Amino acid sequence: MSSSPRPEPPVYDWDGFGFETRQVHAGEYPDRNHGLRVPPIALSAGYLFDDFDDQVSRFDGSIHWRAEDHAGRATAPSPSEHAPIYSRQGNPTNWVAEERLASLEGGVVSVAVSSGQAAITSALLALAQHGDHIVSTASIYGGTRILFGRSFARFGIGFDYVWDADDDAEWERAIRPETKAIFTETVPNPCNDVTDLRRIAEVAARHHLPLVVDNTVGTPALIRPFEHGANVVVHSTTKFLTGHGAAVGGAIVDGGNFDWAAAERAGRSFPLITQSSRAGVAPMLERFGRGAYARAVRESVVNDIGPTLSPLHGFLLHQGMETLSLRMERHVESAIRIAAWLEQQPEVESVDYAGLPSNPLHARAVRDYGADAEGRGRTGSVFGVTVRGGIEGARAFVNGLRVFSRMTGIGDTRSMVIHPLSSTHSTFAPELNERLGITPGLLRLSVGLESAEDLIRDLRHALDRL
Ligand SMILES: *Cc1c(COP(=O)(O)O)cnc(C)c1O
Repeated sequence: MSSSPRPEPPVYDWDGFGFETRQVHAGEYPDRNHGLRVPPIALSAGYLFDDFDDQVSRFDGSIHWRAEDHAGRATAPSPSEHAPIYSRQGNPTNWVAEERLASLEGGVVSVAVSSGQAAITSALLALAQHGDHIVSTASIYGGTRILFGRSFARFGIGFDYVWDADDDAEWERAIRPETKAIFTETVPNPCNDVTDLRRIAEVAARHHLPLVVDNTVGTPALIRPFEHGANVVVHSTTKFLTGHGAAVGGAIVDGGNFDWAAAERAGRSFPLITQSSRAGVAPMLERFGRGAYARAVRESVVNDIGPTLSPLHGFLLHQGMETLSLRMERHVESAIRIAAWLEQQPEVESVDYAGLPSNPLHARAVRDYGADAEGRGRTGSVFGVTVRGGIEGARAFVNGLRVFSRMTGIGDTRSMVIHPLSSTHSTFAPELNERLGITPGLLRLSVGLESAEDLIRDLRHALDRL
């Protein structure tokens, strides 16, 4: 009847599309039963095997996970072609989130897990084992420092911290033959002291060490660590990626850009990636190439230990990421405005926001995070403010807030405040806190999506109580 041409086939490979397009579409797959437009919540612990031989091939690894053969794929795989075994290792809802995040970060594969702490633990346990060593920058999330100093110490994995990441000699002193990774963050909190990733990546490359970067506070909307030489990115998806503060989650992204074979030849051994785990099975590197590290994380760490992300949370995560760039624009715009305003208030001693022209890291902030119309660097929406009067000033200020929520947490729609010295950093020795700049009058703010005028009014009201 009609001679109109057939419709264009749907797109499933979103490489080459813009960030905003990929945050909406990357990772989606067709629902051949009902045409569901929104990827559904696949609440099933297990999956039917077609027959005996299908079960055999799923277990012997001859069928790959969808995520691992993502690169270059032009046709839609159906979920059944992904050949899952059990939801501890992977789930169709979580694949959407994993593929979307890998696309936004510019990596090849990602693995979703149950929390940011699970992501950091899994990422590093795929690289280091008993007797090994990791070097981290000193200014990192308090929970991560506790994880390294307590649980990793019990696993027999040692840490050394570099205090001045711009000092090559300090790195050279810290790195040992048994070092297996360098760990850092994009925008550390509470002090917003952004790292020079390119410089750290050069140190890592020189020593054949993978650089693992926590990009929770930066988010791929503001900075993509792989473009600066990182090899692995980890996230607490609890924060900006999911975006609404309702779901704890985490993820590991493999940049696919680390030369594991060259590291092995140089004496840095990564057995989970480069060596065979059992007779007759080739090493991950041979089987999965650029996705070998992520496969080791999924199969040899996450599957053993079990920090699985619930598909309900995977759903909230892939929904949240659809609006990431829009939310980050607003978060950053309000944060810069508030940081600049706070700096002018007589009750405020200092503001730690790298993007402000008064901050020593301003040039780096603008170079790596871009600038707003007034030349201020866009270093996220989590930063420190120090009020007059030490601990008593901090108490009066916190108690005077009405719109800001007094709570632990960062990076959702709500603005939040916490006093690091008596919370996130309360278990650290006084000398350590002093060195980290965690003073009695320091508060951490996470600027949310409320109207900036209301937030400024709220802060002014609280400062009036000092
Ligand atoms: C919150 C946070 C974590 C821990 O994530 P959870 O999801 O709470 O386990 C790790 N790193 C950074 C930078 C964080 O902000």
